This record gives sequence, C-alpha cells and structure tokens, in this order.
Amino acid sequence: MRGKRSKQYRKLMHQYGMTFGFREPYQVLVDAQMVQDAARFKMDLWPALERTLHGKVKPMITQCSMRHLYASKETPPAIVDKTKTYERRRCNHHTLEQPLSTLECLSSVVDPKGSRTNKHRYVVACQDNEVRSYLRSIPGVPLIYVHRSVMIMEPMAHATEHVRDKDEKSKFRAGLKGARGAITDTLKRKRDDEEEQSGSGSEQEEGRARSGAQSQEEASKKKKRKGPKGPNPLSVKKAKKRPAQENNKGVGKKDSGEGGTSNPAATINEDGTPAAQKRKRKRSHKSGKGADSNGPESEAHDAPSASAEGAGAAEED
Ligand SMILES: [Zn+2]
Repeated sequence: MRGKRSKQYRKLMHQYGMTFGFREPYQVLVDAQMVQDAARFKMDLWPALERTLHGKVKPMITQCSMRHLYASKETPPAIVDKTKTYERRRCNHHTLEQPLSTLECLSSVVDPKGSRTNKHRYVVACQDNEVRSYLRSIPGVPLIYVHRSVMIMEPMAHATEHVRDKDEKSKFRAGLKGARGAITDTLKRKRDDEEEQSGSGSEQEEGRARSGAQSQEEASKKKKRKGPKGPNPLSVKKAKKRPAQENNKGVGKKDSGEGGTSNPAATINEDGTPAAQKRKRKRSHKSGKGADSNGPESEAHDAPSASAEGAGAAEED
C-alpha cells in the first residue's frame, strides 16, 4: 500500500513539475494545525514532507500561522522552537491586531491577486478542510494533510487536471507544428539540392534526397534501374544464346574446313556435314528458329564432307 502511494505521489509531483514548473526544493506552506497534529502523531514533519513529495523540501510558515501556534497552549515548546526554524513567509498580516484565519492568510499568500494562480508554486500542507477545499479551485496547488498519522497528498483537483490537460494538448500541438516545421525544412533543402544539381541534369529524379551526396547516389541508382527494364531477361537470354552458339560453331567449322555456316538457311543447301550435324541439333532444339528447320535433309545426307570447303568458298563468292 505504502509503495503504491509513494509511486503515485512521485508521479503527481512529476506532473506538477511538467505543467506548473514545480522544482526542488518544494516550498511547503504548513499551517499551525499541521504542526500540532504532526507533533501529536509523533511525526517528524520535515522528513515526512520530503518522503511524501519525493524531493527536497523547504517548509514555510506564515506570520499568522506562527501566531496561531504561539497562541495555542497545547503545543510543546520544543515543537514551537523547531517550527521557528522554518522559513517565515511574510504575509504582512503581523500589523493586524489579530492574526487572520488560516483560510484568509493562506489564500492571500498563495494567490495574492485573486487570479487563481499559485504564483510562487507553493505546496500547502494544511489540516483545515475548508482551506484545502478553497485551494482546490486554484490550479496547481499540491495539497497535503495528515490523517491518522499518515501523510496524504491529495490527487489533482479538477481545476488542476483541466489546466494540465490543456497544457498537454497545447504541447502536443506544438510538437506537431515542430514536426511539420522539420518536414518543411527537409523539403526546402531538397529543393535546394535539386536546384544545385539541375546543371548536371540529375534534377529529373524525383527527390527523395536529403542531402546532395545522397541525391546523387539515388540518381545513379535510378539511371541504372532504367536500363534492364524491358522484356523478361530469361526469355531474352534464351533467344540470344542459340544463334550466338550456332554462329560461333559455324565460324569455327568454316575455319577448320569442316564447313558450317553463320546463316544456315542460305548456305546449308550445298553444305554437307555441318547440315547433318545441324539437323541432329535441330531435333534436340526443335523449338528454335524456323529458318533452321528449312535445312535440306536429303542433300545434307548425300553431300560429301569434302565438298564442304568448296561450298564454303562458293558461299563466300
Ligand atoms: Zn497572514
């Protein structure tokens, strides 16, 4: 239970810090009753406040509260002396015949102009329920009281929560604007890059570029990418490969005297051996060129291999 509450208070103070600018040491206004009750519960007020607020604390007491304390006979002198060491908050009601009530005094100290702002970021540790109830209407006043020897920090009041929500929304919006600003900057930079590169002709690339170097890299990538576009590379490879092989073989055969042709349709008629060879190959790759299938089978059979040379010569003529 204690751990859970402690975590809750830490979070609360974090939120007070975020929204209302509370910082350590937290200035805590204590009233006379708080001092007395703490003494009655044998609670060491200062350390208890630091445990509750999760941070360094500067306890403060108004002149009026001090006078209340002096006036009450039941407060042990030791406690009064201890409380004297707290920083005295000069509410300037000391000139009055009687001290003001805690409600009047604290409300004038917390919100001197009556503008519903906790100008000096006071935490108020007060046992008077009426006072706390009034202070809840002022946004950003952390409230502490002691109940049965347990120090309790009130959850955020509605007025406080309202301000916190508004503040968070506006911060969120500011964050969005900031992000938008960053995007605009990026766009501007991109435009600049494009303008710079327009001389080298790379401006056509739609800039995803963030810097000049990157945009150039992207430009080269894009140009490369343009090349291979077209027919399916697999199909292209097949179509090119066969004629290339044939040509090579044909040339080689011609040189070695075996015969063979680079253009089978035109020359194979007089060309014996290679034609036969070709026919064999044709069978295996029948799906190939139509021109090859025109190869004259009968002549190829009859033709002697010796006439290959002559055929080659004739062909060249
Ligand atoms: Zn006062």
